[in-house]
Amino acid sequence: MEDHGIRHGAAAPSPLVDEGWGGGSEGGGTRAPHTSPPAPSPQGAGEKSAAALLSWFDRHRRALAWRAAPGEVADPYRVWLSEIMLQQTTVTAVTPYYRRFLARFPSVTELAKADIEDVLKLWAGLGYYARARNLHACAKAVAARGAFPDREEELLELPGIGPYTAAAVAAIAFDRKASPVDGNVERVVARLFAIEQELPDAKPMIRKLAAQMVPARRPGDFAQAMMDLGATVCTPKAPTCGQCPFAGSCAACLRGDAETFPRKKKKPEGRLRRGAAFVAIRADGHVLVRRRAATGLLGGMTEVPTTTWIADFDVARALADAPQFAPARGASKRETSRKVSPEVSWQRIPGVVTHVFTHFPLELIVLRAHLPKSAAAPDGMRWLARQDIAEAALPSVMRKVLAHALR
Ligand code: SF4
Repeated sequence: MEDHGIRHGAAAPSPLVDEGWGGGSEGGGTRAPHTSPPAPSPQGAGEKSAAALLSWFDRHRRALAWRAAPGEVADPYRVWLSEIMLQQTTVTAVTPYYRRFLARFPSVTELAKADIEDVLKLWAGLGYYARARNLHACAKAVAARGAFPDREEELLELPGIGPYTAAAVAAIAFDRKASPVDGNVERVVARLFAIEQELPDAKPMIRKLAAQMVPARRPGDFAQAMMDLGATVCTPKAPTCGQCPFAGSCAACLRGDAETFPRKKKKPEGRLRRGAAFVAIRADGHVLVRRRAATGLLGGMTEVPTTTWIADFDVARALADAPQFAPARGASKRETSRKVSPEVSWQRIPGVVTHVFTHFPLELIVLRAHLPKSAAAPDGMRWLARQDIAEAALPSVMRKVLAHALR
């Protein structure tokens, strides 16, 4: 049989592998590959562990802006919105965005009716802008069908909903027996079973084990309890096993090296890309901006003009990509024929702006120029009033560039 890399240490806990939690018949998941099989477990021990976690959750659940209070029925719109926003970012970062979004679009119907530009503006700063577009497309699809579907398979058919979000919405909003596995849950499961296999290869195994843990009773609360446990107790660097309802049955805790799980393959870092950003400032304070292509990185967002971002960026050639202004009114014929305003003088601002995208780090030098109030924006660009910058759909990297140039 395939070696799935799970190791039950000498004190490997049996309650995690009984019928309730997947000692099951499918094999691979809970077998010890290099050691003797785990000892038979008492019937129902998995349910007991699930009950212990739920009881912990009832006492320690986090109060989150999007979470229904105990006894309240969850709102699928809020659950879905929060889960999309939370992908790749933290509760602290998302909460203000979520509140603003909900205030502006209190229902999926309101969001479906919104202009995509308004959605992008409210999203600006959260990153991963394709998600904002998918969010809008999904809202339209849900509004067209009348309501969110309550089963994972149907949720998966909606734009921007992948297996994780489908499981999260099905479990949390509809109390379906589904198992959303985010980074927190992944860590908890990897530790509970002391999984030696490295991430990302271990993901299918972890998902399988996580699914086997879901109890028939209160699956939605169980999903949230796993997330909360990972966020507050089973934390990456310093798990507080003494406060954990799984302490007596957690393989990694019993081994004494919980913080070393999950095992991870070292990620090769994306190669540094570099480029130049051009901040043109008109005499009335307006700043020159353009819109990025609708698809791809930061799709559809607003930016100041830049060179392309490449590893072998040549600073000496940066000005070749500077915006080309039409000659000012009253310019000579010669200037007009050159189609370049001779008075534009780009000045390098000391320092660089750095930003880290998922796949690569970026370093931008910033060049600034001052233009007369009569300067016309080049084709495909526009002047953005200083007071409108805060509301514009500018991604974080562009806010950094403007902060650097306008300080
Ligand atoms: Fe995490 Fe410790 Fe709980 Fe195991 S016992 S799940 S390592 S906090």
